[in-house]
Parts: sequence; structure tokens; C-alpha cells
Amino acid sequence: MQEPADAAARRAVEPVICYPNETLPVPDMVLYAAVRKTAKKIDEVLVAPRDAACFRAAAGQFFRISSFEGPQVGDLNLWNAHDLSERFYSGKTRALHGTHLTTGQRMWSSFPHLRPMATITADTLDWYGIDAFGGSVHDVIGTRCDPYTGNLLAGSQYHHCCHSNLTRAVADDLGVSLQQAEPHVHDVLNVFMCTGFTRDTGQYFMKASPVRPGDYLEFFAEIDLLGALSACPGGDCSAEHSSDSAACYPLLVEVFQPDVAALSGWVSPSPNGYDRSHGR
Ligand SMILES: [Zn+2]
Repeated sequence: MQEPADAAARRAVEPVICYPNETLPVPDMVLYAAVRKTAKKIDEVLVAPRDAACFRAAAGQFFRISSFEGPQVGDLNLWNAHDLSERFYSGKTRALHGTHLTTGQRMWSSFPHLRPMATITADTLDWYGIDAFGGSVHDVIGTRCDPYTGNLLAGSQYHHCCHSNLTRAVADDLGVSLQQAEPHVHDVLNVFMCTGFTRDTGQYFMKASPVRPGDYLEFFAEIDLLGALSACPGGDCSAEHSSDSAACYPLLVEVFQPDVAALSGWVSPSPNGYDRSHGR
């Protein structure tokens, strides 16, 4: 189509932030830091390369995802441990915080709950910022690598995509079939993954993660959580995923229990206050 005469003027209109977040409940990071000092490690789960594992973190506990042995990206799912219909809502988290998460930001849950599930309390990659390509780490723009897209684009039957890894882990943890477990798997927080959108074509891109052994992302569990983490078959996602060609490394999840007295004054967030009458 031919551009209208005022095309340049229309493009020059300044953007408006969709969700000004000055009124978002602010996490008490000073309290979390004080509470963290009292915490002791109570559990750890090793996630094997090209596989996934489940873990649990109770409200008030911390969990840490660490890279070791080599650069590795992880795909994280979270659920309310008592009600799997309440799960991480990647799209709304993106709308509230932006495309990539870091310290002080939160993983929000699905409707009708829409409450913080976990707050990021430490991020050793927070120095990275946004690079010259528009890339950054820990995104909520990707979905999770999956065998259906591979089949659509390449006719493949690959079984160790994050989607399948998470499905097997949930099935094993809940003692249900793969078919029963699969609908619980949802869009992830891409831990350590470096991604963005190309400026010229707007396409989703990935590049080698800046993560190195010893780096970690740590969370405060706001509600009782079931988590599942997949060590992506893309490894550091520098070249490709959905195949066995990339170098892959394990990931470590550790859970820390703070001193209960240090948590006095903190309350687990309630479900969203909307009355759900929807105009009727
Ligand atoms: Zn993946």
C-alpha cells in the first residue's frame, strides 16, 4: 500500500507504557535480604542435560538455579503446589515487567489468581543489561522449545525438547501419564537464555548465553511452589536447539529454609481481588 501523506508523523508518535507499574506492590527486598542471611540449604535437585526435574519450595523459602560445568540455559515452569491450575503466566509477567527479568521482579500467576509466585532476589548476570543487538537474559518472550514446532518446520521427531523434558518430569513427579502431564506444561521463564527481537524484521533471536559456571538466579517463593526445570538441548543456545548437536551441561536447583522468626511480618500474597462477576 502507498504510505499516507502523514506517515512520518504517525510513526513519530511517542510510545506510552501499557502498564505503568508504579502501583505494583513492591517487594520488600531489604526484608528478603535479611531473611536470606538466616537461610540454610535443605534440598538440592540436579537437572541432567537434555532432561528436566521437579522440585518444591514452600512459601518463605528461597530456591537458586545455578550453572556449573559449562554454559547452559534452563526452562522454568512454576505451579501452585496445591492447585496446578494456578501456574506461571509468562505473557502477563512480560506486560508488567518487560521482556527480560532480573532482581526485584516477579513471576506472576495465571488468572484468576494473578499474584506473585516468586520474586527474583539475586541475579549474577544483572550486569549484562541490553546489548547492541537488543538481546538480554532471562526472557519471558520465548515459549519453550517443543517437538511440535520442530515437526511443523522440519518434519522431525525429536524427544528431548524442553516441552517433552518438562512433560516427563511432571508425569514422574505426579505419578500420572504423559498425556495427563502435558497440559500442565506452560510457557517458561528462560533462565540464563540471551534473546531479543531483530530490529529490522522483528524476529525472535537467541545468541550464546553469557552464563558461566558459578552464575545463578535466586528466587523467594511467595506461595507453596512446585517447580520444574529443563536443561535445554540447545546448551548455551549459541547455534541451535531441538537436536542433540549442542554441548549440554547440567543445572542445579538448591532450596534454602530461612529462620521462621526472620519471616515475621511477611505474609504470602492473596489471590487477586477482582470479584469475577464480569459485568453480570
Ligand atoms: Zn529448550
